[in-house]
Amino acid sequence: MTEICNECGKSVALGSGRFVNRVPDFDDVETRRQMGKPFPEGAFMCAECDAKIRKVVTFEPPRCPYCEANLFRVAETTYETYTFNPEKGVYKEDGETKITCLDCGADLYDVFPNGVCNYSAKEQEAKAQ
Ligand SMILES: [Zn+2]
Ligand SMILES: [Zn+2]
Repeated sequence: MTEICNECGKSVALGSGRFVNRVPDFDDVETRRQMGKPFPEGAFMCAECDAKIRKVVTFEPPRCPYCEANLFRVAETTYETYTFNPEKGVYKEDGETKITCLDCGADLYDVFPNGVCNYSAKEQEAKAQ
């Protein structure tokens, strides 16, 4: 068994830094050769090549329009204001949501017009295309 990645040829042996996340490839050398693997003798794939092959799609968070920070974390604060209704004798709830950049404190309402929980990087990407 050859402990290299059959895609990039790098070692996935213990101590290579790729040992823990290596993915065993159960095809035999001949099958791997037919599949056009660049290093068919390798019985593994490293984590990076595995992700590439499986086409794992990752998304980037939006950027703050003010400080350009990647918005990995944003703060959403809801302020509840209650207004007394004298005719009914009860309070009417009137919430206001404020979304802020943790880096510069800017108001990010324009970035998240539907709220942070309804944001979808996938939808944003589809819209941009
Ligand atoms: Zn690899
Ligand atoms: Zn900012």
